[in-house]
Amino acid sequence: MFPASFGYVAARSVDEALELLAKHGEDGKILAGGHSLIPAMKLRLSSPRTLIDLGTVPGLQGVKIDGGNLVIGALTVHADIASSDLVRKHVPGLADAASVIGDMQVRNRGTIGGSVAHADPGADFPVILTALNASCVVQSAAGNRTIAVDDFFTDFFSTAMNPNEILTEIRLPLPAPSTGTAYAKFPHPASGYVVVSAGALIVRQASGSCATARIAMGGLGSTPIRATGTEQELQGKALTSQNIAAAAAKAAEGTDPVEDSYAGAEYKQHVATVYARKAIEAAVQRAATN
Ligand SMILES: Cc1cc2nc3c(=O)[nH]c(=O)nc-3n(C[C@H](O)[C@H](O)[C@H](O)COP(=O)(O)OP(=O)(O)OC[C@H]3O[C@@H](n4cnc5c(N)ncnc54)[C@H](O)[C@@H]3O)c2cc1C
Repeated sequence: MFPASFGYVAARSVDEALELLAKHGEDGKILAGGHSLIPAMKLRLSSPRTLIDLGTVPGLQGVKIDGGNLVIGALTVHADIASSDLVRKHVPGLADAASVIGDMQVRNRGTIGGSVAHADPGADFPVILTALNASCVVQSAAGNRTIAVDDFFTDFFSTAMNPNEILTEIRLPLPAPSTGTAYAKFPHPASGYVVVSAGALIVRQASGSCATARIAMGGLGSTPIRATGTEQELQGKALTSQNIAAAAAKAAEGTDPVEDSYAGAEYKQHVATVYARKAIEAAVQRAATN
């Protein structure tokens, strides 16, 4: 399969990429790792006339600490997130997610910014970033704005970004002591994309009870969904296996997953309770040693 013919421009700065986006309008498209865009072009689901390569823009890669945040450049590839010492120390749940995306080739080319901007409902990062209460920083000719992750994903393959904006970084509040994070994924056996997944952030009190829980589910809707029933059930309770199981049983409450050729809606809802439990248990274990 071949894409329709297209032009290519290598941007040298975010400002230049923004100028090129303005110049080409609907005919221009940002290229990051190309691991979602190029397949879509080959299938003729997308036929941009000009690709504007962000991969040639310096300064958009890497993980660093800035004040109370962990900051990840939009062009950081999945493999670098999976192996980052900062990520593994502060938000190991994000490393869990990065390490189960696709295969080695995908993880070496695909970028966190591309994954988040693409907003595939079967993607891993949107789910764990929702659990981690991330913020997305986007830049346009008018300047920067920050969008909370809960407001960022709006529908299947849709985000709160405007067409004239570029995602430049993801910011994660550095978790307080006694916080654990984890991600658990039930992948489609053929594609490896999410059938159902769960991201968890648990803050544990010295007494062993739950101070805060943020639980996000993937595969149950067009965007990541906060499992608010599970979060409320955990709040203030002792983090015992029994209480975790009771809370995880609420992970699919109020959802209406799309039935597909691989899994029915009821099956996905059941699997969600199993994977929510796995993610919460792993996060609780990490919180106990943090
Ligand atoms: C075989 C295969 C298996 C995969 N398996 C998984 C999986 O298991 N889990 C998973 O989550 N993903 C999976 N993916 C997708 C992969 O993670 C992609 O790399 C990712 O979704 C897109 O990142 P990219 O850098 O390749 O973006 P691109 O493909 O370059 O771009 C994707 C879209 O985002 C836009 N875009 C990119 N960067 C920006 C930016 N900074 N600002 C604004 N817009 C931007 C582009 O214009 C385009 O519309 C798989 C892909 C392949 C090919």
